[in-house]
Amino acid sequence: MVHAPPRPPAGSPPVRINLYSDTQTRPTPAMKEAMLRAELGDEQHGDDPTVHALCDRMAALMGKEAAVFLPSGTMCNVVAILTHCQKGDEILAHETAHILHSEGGTHAALTGAQIMPLQGPRGMFTAETLRAAIRPRTRYAPPQRLLEVEQTANIGGGAVWPLRQLNELVAVAREQGWATHMDGARLMNACVAAGIAPRDMVAGFDSVWLDFTKGLGAPLGAVLCGSAAFIGAAWRWKQRLGGSMRQAGLCAAGCLYALDHHVDRLAEDHANAKALARGLAQIPGVVVEEPDTNLVFFDVKGAGSTVEALQARLLQRGVAVSGLGGRVRACTHLDVTAPMIEEAIGHIRAALAA
Ligand SMILES: *Cc1c(COP(=O)(O)O)cnc(C)c1O
Repeated sequence: MVHAPPRPPAGSPPVRINLYSDTQTRPTPAMKEAMLRAELGDEQHGDDPTVHALCDRMAALMGKEAAVFLPSGTMCNVVAILTHCQKGDEILAHETAHILHSEGGTHAALTGAQIMPLQGPRGMFTAETLRAAIRPRTRYAPPQRLLEVEQTANIGGGAVWPLRQLNELVAVAREQGWATHMDGARLMNACVAAGIAPRDMVAGFDSVWLDFTKGLGAPLGAVLCGSAAFIGAAWRWKQRLGGSMRQAGLCAAGCLYALDHHVDRLAEDHANAKALARGLAQIPGVVVEEPDTNLVFFDVKGAGSTVEALQARLLQRGVAVSGLGGRVRACTHLDVTAPMIEEAIGHIRAALAA
């Protein structure tokens, strides 16, 4: 039996403060209007002008030759890994990586690549750790092919990899002849928090993608960027997986709108996350990690609660949070305001005291 995410019990009040995930934002009226005005064509046939505009803009933003529009971030990872790897190849990634835990075993089921889980605090590892994982090139060892990092590191607490650390990893990969892939689900959060331009942040990566359905607030879509040859090969996998679309410009217009209006404001989400962490740190027994970006992870065991018990109590108060890796996760995003943060802290304090 496969479990769906829990639904609020019948009779729960509506969720007023949704800290569950930055994927739960609703398109704003202005974004919807931009979507309605979009010029459309047959994307699969290469005729959708709005999709072309989005891909050109993303390629330029990331400093890559080309880009392809895909329905989801998961499909970006799957398509990229299918393009980089052969069956039996090994990917080096952090032990908390999305590709390892949250993509339904795709990389075993579809790409046939295995993942070597690397350790390190906050979802990140060092060049030294990467170097220690280099295998001898014998007929026994799986061929190592790809370095993969998440910027920001989701289960790592939305941590921002320092650019210097990324560049050190890339140097090891280059020396070993590995390709490099960045899962940039929340790349813009990292760039805004670090004050680094996307093209500089991803310069060492052969492929990188950005999700438009996290803090950027679009309803659908992600864009994978790389060399012209890489994106050409990625298109074949997009077609094979059924990721080629038709009048997809409707969604691409929402993504373009997000690039224009929802990037700089990520700084507000980060400020809200810091305010939330400060407030939570005042609650007896709560252990909270200082957030780099918009994800706040906290431990409530010391406050005598389980993640599930707190989630249920908060739902009764109209506040949603998620549980991840034994901790509570609260995400700030477009639909969460500073007063809501103050209110949420009060509810969490009361729910834990009850
Ligand atoms: C959300 C997420 C994904 C998958 O993106 P979807 O658009 O939900 O498929 C991949 N990697 C990370 C780090 C994510 O947070």
